Amino acid sequence: MYDLVILGAGPAGLSAAIYAMRKRLDFLVISEDLGGKTNHVVNLPEVEDYTIIKAREQVSVYRSRLHYRSELYRKERVTKVISLTGPEAEKATLFEVCTQKTDGTIQTYQSRTVFIATGANFPPIDVPGFRRFWGRGLGGNIQSYNHAFWEKEVFLFSDATRGLWNALDLASFASKVYLALSEEGTYDLESLEQVRRTTNIYLCEDVRLVEFNGDDFCQSVEISCRGVSQVLKADGFFLDLEPQANLEFLSPNLGADFDDAGRIVVDKYMQTRVPGLFAGGDGCDAGRYQVLTALGQGAGAAMSIYQWLRHPAIIV
Ligand SMILES: Cc1cc2nc3c(=O)[nH]c(=O)nc-3n(C[C@H](O)[C@H](O)[C@H](O)COP(=O)(O)OP(=O)(O)OC[C@H]3O[C@@H](n4cnc5c(N)ncnc54)[C@H](O)[C@@H]3O)c2cc1C
Repeated sequence: MYDLVILGAGPAGLSAAIYAMRKRLDFLVISEDLGGKTNHVVNLPEVEDYTIIKAREQVSVYRSRLHYRSELYRKERVTKVISLTGPEAEKATLFEVCTQKTDGTIQTYQSRTVFIATGANFPPIDVPGFRRFWGRGLGGNIQSYNHAFWEKEVFLFSDATRGLWNALDLASFASKVYLALSEEGTYDLESLEQVRRTTNIYLCEDVRLVEFNGDDFCQSVEISCRGVSQVLKADGFFLDLEPQANLEFLSPNLGADFDDAGRIVVDKYMQTRVPGLFAGGDGCDAGRYQVLTALGQGAGAAMSIYQWLRHPAIIV
């Protein structure tokens, strides 16, 4: 039985692992990959490399530590997490984590605590040109790249209110923002009014993406806006879609709380409502979709878990 099983090895899982190592906890990391979404890079044409700190660079030291301690890491898919002690347990807790290896073999692990750091993913995109240009002028997570669009033009496609906020933010320094709102999304009306009043935001509503085009990098997008086709050119293209937390392996009987976006709710110690079950990064309600915040949450969670294992009644 482990002290701690960490699910996911993106920034939150990696920093939790490094802090667990420091505290000499008996722990295991289970993840389908090392690095998580930091393995995605968005290259932008005519943007100097030094202006962007790549997500992969921000986690490289944590990632390499775990890479060289391969006995602490299993490349498996988590399929189920259940409590063997039940939701009423306040002190000694025991979880069972079920996984599947790539060859189909099933494994189970038992642990006194679990840290969930499995992140969140965009809904799948099936638009011609998407695979070809992903990472080449076309990307996700505009918050990480918006400073590169000073006096430039940028295209944003969104299905949620956060797309409106990001467009308003960009409009304060980009020369033009093309904001295409998906026909499938719902949007806060007050923010929508503010977008309509902003002169350098070109707003298209009820949009369906038709095709991304370009040569080495994405240079234009064809959209259908209320049935009318338009081709828009910009210096960068971003999808700002509502991410879905990767939590399908959590048994509903565990008794965890979720917010409206389906993310697991945590307190300031990164603890969920279930004693001994902690979460951090993009899959929890404190997630900010940034590497540095996920790293901090993973480190904070590992410190709380250490306290929990030593003195379950108090976390300081
Ligand atoms: C294209 C793109 C570019 C970005 N660029 C930047 C940037 O430049 N700067 C920045 O700060 N942020 C950037 N971000 C955001 C940043 O990468 C994320 O906020 C961050 O990686 C979230 O960390 P996390 O640990 O919560 O989850 P993730 O990084 O998503 O990691 C989740 C981990 O869990 C594993 N996992 C998921 N489900 C399972 C399962 N069932 N079983 C086993 N393992 C599982 C995954 O394999 C992965 O290892 C970018 C995001 C995208 C999509």
